[in-house]
Amino acid sequence: MDKNPGIGLFGGTFDPIHIGHLITAEEVRDLFGLDEIVFTPSNRSPHKPDRPMASARDRYEMVALATKSNPYFSVDDIELVRGGTSYTVDTVREFRERRGDEVSLHLVIGADLMLDLESWKDPDQLLALVTIIVMSRPGYDLRQVPEPFRGRFEVARVSHIDISSTMIRQRVLEGRSVRYLVPDAVEAYISAKELYRGR
Ligand code: ATP
Ligand code: MG
Repeated sequence: MDKNPGIGLFGGTFDPIHIGHLITAEEVRDLFGLDEIVFTPSNRSPHKPDRPMASARDRYEMVALATKSNPYFSVDDIELVRGGTSYTVDTVREFRERRGDEVSLHLVIGADLMLDLESWKDPDQLLALVTIIVMSRPGYDLRQVPEPFRGRFEVARVSHIDISSTMIRQRVLEGRSVRYLVPDAVEAYISAKELYRGR
């Protein structure tokens, strides 16, 4: 009954991490029987030229705080250490080299990103290296995935949590509460470091 450990790589800007990320990641882990979910905060996202707002270290720190209590969750600074623009295909290759062929690698992404896969670096290579698990997300229709990628990914029907980091940043900027939208430790970190308050 020995099976290869199943790992889910969960990339993102996490600017900041919120409960939408955490709830859906745990649901994916449970649905697919994965042994680990590894959060990989980006150094710089190719999809977000004018961002992030918080530094890579602060975003990493918030992911670390948010994932600490879940033994299946961890955070990896692989993209921070590599520096520059963070391409998922590079992260997957590096992770594969590090962990060897015995692990079964999955890439966990939201439906919004799957609709956009064509614009990624080497999408075909990426699909050859990992199983992509797409989480449903409010407002994004997976029937609209471009033709070359249809049927080449797994779908995780997760709870629809209509929360985004953009919404969290906006609320902080307006001086509104983000309590319960992010873990308590992340709320405290944002406030102590005065993140997202504008300049
Ligand atoms: P932003 O508003 O800054 O784009 P975000 O909330 O989309 O932030 P990201 O860091 O861009 O967060 O997303 C990281 C990953 O998490 C992506 O794969 C994204 O699709 C997914 N994701 C984020 N929020 C949700 C959510 N509420 N439900 C499902 N997936 C989500
Ligand atoms: Mg996003």
